[in-house]
Amino acid sequence: MKKFKIFLFLLCEINNKYLAELKNHLQNLFGLDVELTSHSVDLSFAYNERRRQYSGEEILRKAEKNKRNANEKWLLIVDVDLYSSGLNFIFGLANPYSGTSIISLTRLRQQFYGKPENEKFFIERLKKEATHELGHLFYLSHCSDKKCVMHFSNSLYDTDVKSAYFCERCKKLLFNIKKGE
Ligand SMILES: [Zn+2]
Ligand SMILES: [Zn+2]
Repeated sequence: MKKFKIFLFLLCEINNKYLAELKNHLQNLFGLDVELTSHSVDLSFAYNERRRQYSGEEILRKAEKNKRNANEKWLLIVDVDLYSSGLNFIFGLANPYSGTSIISLTRLRQQFYGKPENEKFFIERLKKEATHELGHLFYLSHCSDKKCVMHFSNSLYDTDVKSAYFCERCKKLLFNIKKGE
């Protein structure tokens, strides 16, 4: 077994209760230690004035420069609206080669769509998006099973339809990767 470890880098404010649930979920699902740290980082370098959004790629590129250990899987959590080249917006982004990923909370909230706050939806979406991007860091690609967490979310509807868990096929792939096969 390779010694993988998951690191969550919190670059925004978030309710401790949500964090505890997220950490628990990831720990159980991946069967790995999850370390959580809070950071205050100025993300203005990644801001695109024309789009009024932040470049997920630029934030990842900067994070990658600080990364030394290939067995560390990094997930950055931000609360700014992210985009990626060729896409209007992204819920998250992952670079399996550097082992770094990012998710944004902004579009996971009901309020973003002019709807009343819904804590349950928010926590579920947070778990799904975090699991999805971390799944990519273990070289899982998009899955055709609509319920599998590795299914691609084109919209929040897709996120709500899928579960926060891996299908049997993805689970097996993850297990083999963790074993170092
Ligand atoms: Zn994906
Ligand atoms: Zn799957």
